[in-house]
Amino acid sequence: MDTLPLTNLVLPTYDDVVAAAARIEGHAHKTPVLTSRTANRELGAEVFFKCENYQRMGAFKFRGAFNALSTFDATQRKHGVVAFSSGNHAQGIALSARLLGIPATIVMPHDAPAAKVAATKEYGATVVRYDRYTQDREAIGRQLAHEQGLTLVPPYDHPHILAGQGTAAKELFEEVGALDALFVCLGGGGLLSGSALATRALAPDCRLYGVEPEAGNDGQQSLRSGRIVKIETPKTIADGAQTQYLGNYTFGIIQRDVDDILTASDGQLVEAMRFFAERMKMVVEPTGCLGFAAARAMASELKGQRVGVIISGGNIDLGTYAALLAR
Ligand SMILES: *Cc1c(COP(=O)(O)O)cnc(C)c1O
Repeated sequence: MDTLPLTNLVLPTYDDVVAAAARIEGHAHKTPVLTSRTANRELGAEVFFKCENYQRMGAFKFRGAFNALSTFDATQRKHGVVAFSSGNHAQGIALSARLLGIPATIVMPHDAPAAKVAATKEYGATVVRYDRYTQDREAIGRQLAHEQGLTLVPPYDHPHILAGQGTAAKELFEEVGALDALFVCLGGGGLLSGSALATRALAPDCRLYGVEPEAGNDGQQSLRSGRIVKIETPKTIADGAQTQYLGNYTFGIIQRDVDDILTASDGQLVEAMRFFAERMKMVVEPTGCLGFAAARAMASELKGQRVGVIISGGNIDLGTYAALLAR
C-alpha cells in the first residue's frame, strides 16, 4: 500500500481537541461517567466507564463528524458531504449534516443491515448502494466527490475527525481527574489517537492501551513493527473494528503516545456484553466492549489503581444482541 512518509504530515495536537470541544458544545451530549461496585470488586481497582453508548446516534462518531462538518466553508456546505460507511460513521455524518443544514450522501453496501440504511435515510441523507464484493467504495466516494463537488469525510484518518473523537477522553479526565490507566478500543484509530492527545495533555503519566479484536490485530502488529501493517478484513463480532489498517495520522499519534495495543476475543466481548447488561443495565455493542474486556484480562496489574474505560457505542440489532447473549 502507499503510505505517506510521516515526516510530511502535520499531526494534530491537543489544541485541536480543545477547538473541537468548543465546536460540539451544546450539540453533542456530555455523556455520563458510570461506576460499578461489581466491576471495582472484580478488578480490585476503581473503574470509570465513559459511556459513549449514550452519545447522540449511539456512538462517539457523532463527535468527530460534527466537528469536521462544522469547519466546512460556504461552498462546501452548499455542495454537501460524502462518506462511505455501513456503520456508525455514516449515521454520525448524516445526523451532523442534518443539524448543520448540509446535504449528505452516504455510500453503503447492498447488504448493509436494513435498520442502518433506514436510520441513515431518516436523518435525511441520500444513500448510494454498491456491491461490496465487486466495487470499491472509496473509488465510488471519490468519484461522487469529484463529479458533484462533494467533500469526502473519511471515518478516522482526518485531523478534524480524530480531534473530535478526543473530546470524550478530555471530558473523562476533566470529570474524574488523572487516571493510572485508560483502555480505548480501536479500528482505524481515530478514537484512540484523539484520546492520546487528551491523555498526554491532561494525565501525562496515565498508561494508555488500545484494544482491538484478536482476529484483527493489525494495530498491534503496526505498533510493534513500526510501520502500518495491512490485513484481510477480520472475522469478528466487533463490526466497528473490522478495519484493515491504521491511518497515517492515527498511526503517527499512536506510535508516539500509546503504551501498548492489546486484543480481546469474541468470547471475551460477549462476557463483557453480559456484564454490562446484567450489572449495569446497559446495551453495549461488541466493539464497545473491547476496552473493558482487556482491562478484565489484565486485572492483576491494575490492583488499587484508577482505571478509565471508554465504552464506544451501543448500536446493535436486538435480534443479534439476544442471540449473542443466549449462547
Ligand atoms: C468506529 C467505531 C470504533 C472504532 O473507532 P476508530 O476511530 O475507527 O478506531 C469503535 N467502536 C465503535 C462503536 C465505533 O463505531
